[in-house]
Amino acid sequence: MTYSYTQISQYLACPKRYKHRYLHGWREKETRASLLFGRVFEQALSAYFFRQDPTEVLFREWFALQDTQLEYANGDSWEKMYRQGIVLLERFAQDNRVRVLRLRRNLQIKLSRPLGNGNEFRAYVDAIGLLDGTRSVIEWKTTTSRYPEEPEGLLSLDPQLICYSWLTGIEDVAVVAFVRKRLPEIQYLKTRISEEQRQDYARLVEETISRIEAGHFLPHSGIRFPQNGCLACPFLGLCLENQELIDIKLVRKPGASDLDWLRDIDY
Ligand code: SF4
Repeated sequence: MTYSYTQISQYLACPKRYKHRYLHGWREKETRASLLFGRVFEQALSAYFFRQDPTEVLFREWFALQDTQLEYANGDSWEKMYRQGIVLLERFAQDNRVRVLRLRRNLQIKLSRPLGNGNEFRAYVDAIGLLDGTRSVIEWKTTTSRYPEEPEGLLSLDPQLICYSWLTGIEDVAVVAFVRKRLPEIQYLKTRISEEQRQDYARLVEETISRIEAGHFLPHSGIRFPQNGCLACPFLGLCLENQELIDIKLVRKPGASDLDWLRDIDY
């Protein structure tokens, strides 16, 4: 069986959520403009590294979604997001702080690692490159609010970065956050992951998989601060048996009942 960072984090957030998604094949409808814009923006970033025109790629791919029924949040619109994307791409080029060599090997890298019992862990890492001259695992993020930078060292607790450090064996990791706010900004956030953190993550993965394989899927429900996960959970309609909410938010993968999901896992 192949596991991914997303699977492990979904299980840790709520085992029932994992069950809805990975055992029963339910998926959130991809209508959130922010999610789709993030994917388009990453395509434009790849174009930048391949010395193509990133603004042209951004326009072409984002334009293709212009007439799609998307959910825009926080006063966003197609036009506003496009303009923010252009500013961020231009600023990224001006900053010139990230270099990626041997592009086909070091951009959108598929990594895998064997686990016990014939299992495998697989992930896609955005880039391995030089940030201010230091070889690092780099994640691109598009966001509408700045990443917190205080207290010092906070980023070293990010589980996705710990996971990628464990997979690659590289201790320097970074997030390049493209912040879509009124005055767009790029944060270059760097940290180091220790060997102890990597070993802890390996144990967490093994422990989580053994719970999944033992069929432990009790819900970790929560509707009050700070564990209000149900309110942001796309599977709320399933847990409330609310058909209207299910129809609005979810689709079920064809053949999911025949365990098709095993061959088509979304990492
Ligand atoms: S709605 Fe709550 S209990 Fe149900 S899957 Fe989502 S997080 Fe878990």
